[in-house]
Amino acid sequence: MHELSIAMEIIAIVEEESAKRNLERVEEIGLKIGALTGVDPEALRFAFEASTADTPLAGVRINIENIPVRGRCLSCGKAIEVKEFIFICPYCGAGDLEINRGEELDIAYIVGL
Ligand SMILES: [Zn+2]
Repeated sequence: MHELSIAMEIIAIVEEESAKRNLERVEEIGLKIGALTGVDPEALRFAFEASTADTPLAGVRINIENIPVRGRCLSCGKAIEVKEFIFICPYCGAGDLEINRGEELDIAYIVGL
């Protein structure tokens, strides 16, 4: 399961970061998940909760921001949002797109005490 290994990675980063910042406990984690990552946000949330059940990170709130696929048409120059993975410009029909958002898989913030 893809999401489980990502959850483990996030947990490792959060643990490292909270040690660095001397946090007694982590309350909330903000994640940004781009649509191109193929990560199912709810599956990731479930994997995170399952993996932290008996750890100091149990019960941490996870705030997931879904990032749509966005870019620019190289033919007509318009900013576009790709929906349903159809990589065609809705304005001029060109398939030459420059994608600059949607590949994010980031920890946006960690809130703790
Ligand atoms: Zn276009």
